[in-house]
Amino acid sequence: MHRVDGPPVVFVSNCDLLSRPGSQQAGVDIELAGGTVRRIGPTGESPAPAGAELIDGTGLLAMPGLVNAHSHSPENCLRGVGEGLRLEPWLLRMFGSSGLYSPEDHYVNALAGAVEMLLLGVTTVVDHLWMTPPSLDAVEGAVRAYEEAGIRAAVAPLMNDCDFTGELAAASDFDLGPALMSEQVAFLSSEELLAQFEQAVARWHGSAGGRIRILAGPGGVQWCSDELLGGLADAARSHGTGLHIHLLETSLQRAVCDQRFGRSGVEALEDLGVLGPNCSLPHSVWIDDEDIERIARTGSIVVHNPAANLRLGSGRCPVGRLLEREATVAIGTDGSASSDNQNVWEMVKLGALIHNDGPRWVSGADSLTMATGSGYQVWSGGEAGLSLGGEIAVGAVADLILLNRSTDGLAGVQVLEPGLALSESGRSVKHVIVDGRVVVRDGNLATADGAAVREALREQVQRRSREVASPPQGTGEAMERIETFIRSLGDSAATVSNQNRRS
Ligand SMILES: [Zn+2]
Repeated sequence: MHRVDGPPVVFVSNCDLLSRPGSQQAGVDIELAGGTVRRIGPTGESPAPAGAELIDGTGLLAMPGLVNAHSHSPENCLRGVGEGLRLEPWLLRMFGSSGLYSPEDHYVNALAGAVEMLLLGVTTVVDHLWMTPPSLDAVEGAVRAYEEAGIRAAVAPLMNDCDFTGELAAASDFDLGPALMSEQVAFLSSEELLAQFEQAVARWHGSAGGRIRILAGPGGVQWCSDELLGGLADAARSHGTGLHIHLLETSLQRAVCDQRFGRSGVEALEDLGVLGPNCSLPHSVWIDDEDIERIARTGSIVVHNPAANLRLGSGRCPVGRLLEREATVAIGTDGSASSDNQNVWEMVKLGALIHNDGPRWVSGADSLTMATGSGYQVWSGGEAGLSLGGEIAVGAVADLILLNRSTDGLAGVQVLEPGLALSESGRSVKHVIVDGRVVVRDGNLATADGAAVREALREQVQRRSREVASPPQGTGEAMERIETFIRSLGDSAATVSNQNRRS
């Protein structure tokens, strides 16, 4: 593996341009320098600067690179695991069978995901990095992979310090025992985790010329103490970075938060100082109208994960209602054990299809905006002074992809944005540029040996296959116990559920 130092100037000639959904231009030249877009003009207006790396854009469409605004890289070797399970038993199944990860394992999983994404035209990933156990060495493995692969990345080390599900169960005399997350994975104290976050920021935030960022990554409201939530929110703000937290993915999580706070978990997050333009909220399935108002008012960003929500039977994020209130919504694949790949084009298509039964439908342009400009905001974590991104404009970061307009996917497209959102699968991606460097040229990755990376991933799959086939004793019992508990709760959060069916 080697890092590619791209030339200072890249010149793309005679391409068509979708600078952002809703803004098209035919026949342009694009000049990139120092990692940003320096000039956009009609074809032939200015010659290519001497020494520039040239890309002939004839027959190609330039558009912003896609952003995967929520993923978990360790799941790249766990595809297909836990079919037919809802989130809570699925989590037990996954952690019961995934075993421990060495820093090298984290490196291989993150690199494999980066290779997959770059070849599909995904130029940025937000990796909510779970670790067993949480350690700086694990973070180092993922960061090193992203630095080498040349992808733009935000790594949010996932941190949990308790499981409030036990308190909800205790209130109805139900003993969850081994079904608690705190019994399945090693939790560190909030002090230890806050210290780890500080160290991660000091070592890697802004590395690779600013391409790599560290976000705070509390695992979820139900798995974090007030001290951890408030502490990470303060720390993220003081470092000018973002905070990324799973929000109300399932009805059980909603019930746990309602019981813990005696009010909405979203309201509690605002009181703890968590919400704001630097805060991103993957899932947000079990939110009601008041929550939506709060999210919109605070400028927090919802990250929609349609495939994972469908796979785990979690419900549906009310994207139409969020957009109606002018909230920002990004999109992500979630981890590969729940979705089961890293192809953001598939999320764009699902995002543009599954909300078409409410008053506010989600268009192809909406879905593409979720996967570009809004996703970039999640990566940037609301930091002032960062370059514009998620669109192709003078001064914006040079993250763009060039698509062949003559492929099966695009040759027949009449109307561009819906055509891209609904017909493209990633197979038209020809060149990929991240931070001004050409990392994929003619469909070939310049920064990593894709075949060798896939082989290393296969080896890891083989090594874990025995654990996956027969999880440790007790996993099955724990899964049954949580399933029984969820069923015993019945439809306690049905009001929100019904609202979301009409989203
Ligand atoms: Zn997730």
